[in-house]
Amino acid sequence: MRRRSLFRWVFLTATLTLAACARGPADYQQTLLVFGTLLEVKAFTDKPDEFHRAVTDLDQTFQRMHRQWHAWKGEGELVRLNRAFAAGEALLISTELVELLRQSQHYAKLSDGLFNPAIGRLIGLWGFHSDEPPGGPPPAMNQIQGLLDTAPSMEDIRFSGNRLSSANPSVAIDLGAFAKGYALNLAIQRLREFGIDNAIVNAGGDLCVSGSHGDRPWIIGIRHPQGEGVIASVGITDGECVLTSGNYERYREYDGIRYAHILDPRSGYPVEHVASATAISHEGALADAAATALSVAGPGAWEKTAARMGLTQVMLVDEKGRVYLTPEMGQRIEFQQALPEVIIGVSESDGSM
Ligand code: AMP
Ligand code: MG
Repeated sequence: MRRRSLFRWVFLTATLTLAACARGPADYQQTLLVFGTLLEVKAFTDKPDEFHRAVTDLDQTFQRMHRQWHAWKGEGELVRLNRAFAAGEALLISTELVELLRQSQHYAKLSDGLFNPAIGRLIGLWGFHSDEPPGGPPPAMNQIQGLLDTAPSMEDIRFSGNRLSSANPSVAIDLGAFAKGYALNLAIQRLREFGIDNAIVNAGGDLCVSGSHGDRPWIIGIRHPQGEGVIASVGITDGECVLTSGNYERYREYDGIRYAHILDPRSGYPVEHVASATAISHEGALADAAATALSVAGPGAWEKTAARMGLTQVMLVDEKGRVYLTPEMGQRIEFQQALPEVIIGVSESDGSM
């Protein structure tokens, strides 16, 4: 079972899939272990040396992020920040983490709090902070209610330059729903800095791309949340990211009931009606935050949430396998399996993203 958060960037394998012929671009691939999941970095390039240097650089960058931005392990800056919030103290943090928190505060607001990375304590109570979620019964209702009553929100965070404090000591930040999208975007930028302009970085189906695969766009598959294989494929253009949240990814199970790792911050309980939510955007962090928010919004409110977050490219699969799509997503996606029902929603966005 894979941990969805931004941790343990351990270099695992380096696989050269195809050596360049004498000259001309060819496919290259290396695999890192990232966020407890494999990160495949693929490029179509005639610069293999630059590609390998870029991947080594990425590995180091992501290992540093892992140490600094894990909410629960070690002594990184996010652990120290959460401790400072709990103690009512201020802490000076890096500009990069400030930027990450400002972005997540913005997306939390846009999502009406359905994406809420300040609910770290609730995530901890359910046991979804650990690499292996526990078995056993769900937490007691009064414990959940106790945390809900403290109403942790990203709005509680006070920014004074790089010095942060929280007006609410129950705020504990968990970036598990958001940091992967941010990191995938960063990976594509870093590859570009090394001259690698046609690439795909893929962490267990969450991905960003640059350029194309020769004269074709990069074609990717979106995993079926309920069965084996791919539910749909879609061509992805330069700079786009595809992020999916799914209840199949991590969960705890008790008495025949599965409790998904995505929590509804309003009720304190796991989401029930959505099997997966996928968002495509040029902003990986936004797509990641949105995929989580859309899972919480569910079949009744996903269109409104997508519109508020400025997203036009969205797909939802509910627990009965019904598929909900924005018209824009419907135009580009190709289903690979027979589906019980496909519902095209209204895209209310102003299309600014
Ligand atoms: P994702 O797969 O991107 O939806 O991220 C899920 C992870 O984000 C969980 O494992 C939790 O660590 C955290 N999380 C769960 N529910 C929420 C939520 N409503 N808002 C923000 N983070 C959440
Ligand atoms: Mg997410």
